[in-house]
Amino acid sequence: MTKNIDWGSLSFKYQPTDYRVTASYEDGKWSELELTTDPTVHISECACVLQYAQTVFEGLKAYRTEDGKIVTFRPDLNAQRMIDSAVRLAMPPVPEDMFMKALDMLVKANADWVPPYGSGATLYIRPFIYGSGPMIGVAPAPSFEFRMMCMPVGPYFKEGIKPIVIKVSDFDRAAPHGTGNIKAGLNYAMSLYAGELAHAEGFAENMYLDAGTRTCVEETGGANFIFITKDGKVVTPKSHSDSILPSVTRRSLMVVASDVLGMETETREVKFEEVPEFAECGLCGTAAVISPVGKINDHGREIAFPSGMDEMGPTLKKLYDTLTGIQMGRIEGPEGWIHEIEL
Ligand SMILES: *Cc1c(COP(=O)(O)O)cnc(C)c1O
Repeated sequence: MTKNIDWGSLSFKYQPTDYRVTASYEDGKWSELELTTDPTVHISECACVLQYAQTVFEGLKAYRTEDGKIVTFRPDLNAQRMIDSAVRLAMPPVPEDMFMKALDMLVKANADWVPPYGSGATLYIRPFIYGSGPMIGVAPAPSFEFRMMCMPVGPYFKEGIKPIVIKVSDFDRAAPHGTGNIKAGLNYAMSLYAGELAHAEGFAENMYLDAGTRTCVEETGGANFIFITKDGKVVTPKSHSDSILPSVTRRSLMVVASDVLGMETETREVKFEEVPEFAECGLCGTAAVISPVGKINDHGREIAFPSGMDEMGPTLKKLYDTLTGIQMGRIEGPEGWIHEIEL
């Protein structure tokens, strides 16, 4: 029985559901996956995650389709990205087949928490690995935990999609050839202060430029950029210093643009000084799919996109409708993009 929840009024907020999946890594191997009802963890005060932030995570969603199936979108890319993240932080990666098995177990066990089709809400899934064993000298943890939890979350934009205003940050998000291209908690810890400052000044997000030269657009704290040129080309920034997180949403939108909609696409360096020439700007990530950006404030100088502050520009809207249509099962997507959860 689907839980009795007012799905439309949910926000992006932690809520423990009935089950989560766990496994531990000790003596060079992962244990069997287990379902547990316990939403707490009990670890050493000297756990490497607490002392040295040895933790990586993922974020994906499960959707209820019109015909009642539960599906996830390209989870193999999340599995692969978590492997890359774990390797970079000297942690044991969770193999793709183990990740997929955990996903199936978790969503099946919490099927009653998957919001109904058309509610706008989705089931947000958060896999993570952390160094649970004690470490005081600087070295990787002696043991690790893998956990996958989930929670229903509301539609990102409750009152319809409204363009946001962002600012160019005076802080950097990621060092050149640092950890910007992996999904690690540490990348978020250091963005919190800059994020709070931006919010206090009335901005929704920070735009980060490349830390090395501060001349190229990289991304925001948790979403990649996508731009539309005045002649309808789709452009997304490439980092010359490998410091942009490879967003599944952004990579999928680029394929939708070129292969489904037949648009011209470019993945290339985007100089900050060319930003005023674009017709539309959006942020992409799992949470909102695309958040349209109406204005960028560069130290008091406003860059206002022709798409304005009332609605998403027409080209981003077409991309948004097509990708969300594929995710919700209304539109047939490229082979292998939809993974159905067997109930
Ligand atoms: C998770 C994340 C994104 C978005 O990635 P998706 O796979 O599309 O959700 C973008 N930037 C950063 C820094 C992220 O951590």
